[in-house]
Amino acid sequence: MTDEIHGSADGLGRPGGAPHAAGRETARATVDLDVIRRNVEVLREHAGSAAVMAVVKADGYGHGLVPSARAAVSGGASWLGVAQLSEAMALRDNGVHAPVLSWLHVPGSDFAAAITADIDLSVSALWSLAEVADAARALGRTARIHLKVDTGLGRNGAFGDDWQILLPAARSLEAERLVRIVGVWSHFVYADEPTHPTVRRQQERFGQAVREAERAGCELEVRHIANSAATLTNPGVAFDLVRPGLAVYGLSPVPSLGDPQSFGLTPAMTLSADLAVTKRIPAGQGLSYGHQYVTSQDTTVGLVPIGYADGIPRNATNAGPVSLGGARHTVSGRVCMDQFTVDLGPQSRAQAGDRVTLFGAGESGEPTAEDWARATGTISYEIISRIGSRVPRVYIGGQQ
Ligand SMILES: *Cc1c(COP(=O)(O)O)cnc(C)c1O
Repeated sequence: MTDEIHGSADGLGRPGGAPHAAGRETARATVDLDVIRRNVEVLREHAGSAAVMAVVKADGYGHGLVPSARAAVSGGASWLGVAQLSEAMALRDNGVHAPVLSWLHVPGSDFAAAITADIDLSVSALWSLAEVADAARALGRTARIHLKVDTGLGRNGAFGDDWQILLPAARSLEAERLVRIVGVWSHFVYADEPTHPTVRRQQERFGQAVREAERAGCELEVRHIANSAATLTNPGVAFDLVRPGLAVYGLSPVPSLGDPQSFGLTPAMTLSADLAVTKRIPAGQGLSYGHQYVTSQDTTVGLVPIGYADGIPRNATNAGPVSLGGARHTVSGRVCMDQFTVDLGPQSRAQAGDRVTLFGAGESGEPTAEDWARATGTISYEIISRIGSRVPRVYIGGQQ
């Protein structure tokens, strides 16, 4: 890998941001930016005539905010989506100019900075409409907003009669040119179960809210409700724009309906660590805190220097899969803060420095993030997005 670049732990991908004076890193998350680009190209095909907003919140689901955003744009994403304003500002500070929507704010957010940086803002409630309009008035500018309607999820968005209040309030501020209502949007409860009855109900409620906005005089640029699962399984809800997150990084949001390959996607992240120690251990010896694993034979044990502080679930104890030299093994004993042990078997010739793969694309027999999710009772979203800041992101591919 001659073209690899180390990202900083803050995920902004500044060259030279690798941990200092450490020599070789103990573990790394290798992110293939060409894979992210190709995944977005595939998502564009799934989206039909709708545009693609690549969701890069939570440090690009752990892959690095700015490198992921750049790779997604090179694959044809014409929008980027983030949860928090700080994420949107970080994109702008790093020279990413694509349209950005930010959607999860609290009172007192710096909407003035967002408006100045040409960031589109989601508005779900009267308080945020007022704060955004105040910021626009003070700047002498017009804020671009997307009105969010709660069609049943019960998170953000105006629910029921609140929509009938939010919409005219936004229209009157639009008449003052303080805001421009560019979008109406919502989010599904059960996108991962496309035949669930809530999907149709939410779709109808969304269509109704869009018609009400248009009847009230809104000239909408984009109507959007589809996340990854809806983009891949329910083309009828693409509207003008789809908002895939997980699928951008190549994982399946609907593992029961299909693996990544069945949707044309490839996982972009490989998480690996280098053995710190290998040793012979006799039968009957306990490993790690609490001796939750006891060797059943004379064997070789390897110490893997990555732990729960790095995002490895503690309940991967005796469950998490790894691969070493093409063979599969399982976490043996309790996952610690910085490390865990693996019984490599009596025949193992593994040595300190050998590379252990926790998960990758699965194309060379290694486990996947989905395998880790299944082994630990969670979803692949959590496995990738919780990889900690101590793990350097190493980038391959992309335009560097
Ligand atoms: C995170 C998020 C998405 C992306 O969801 P995926 O399931 O990862 O595709 C889309 N829209 C909203 C509002 C989100 O919070």
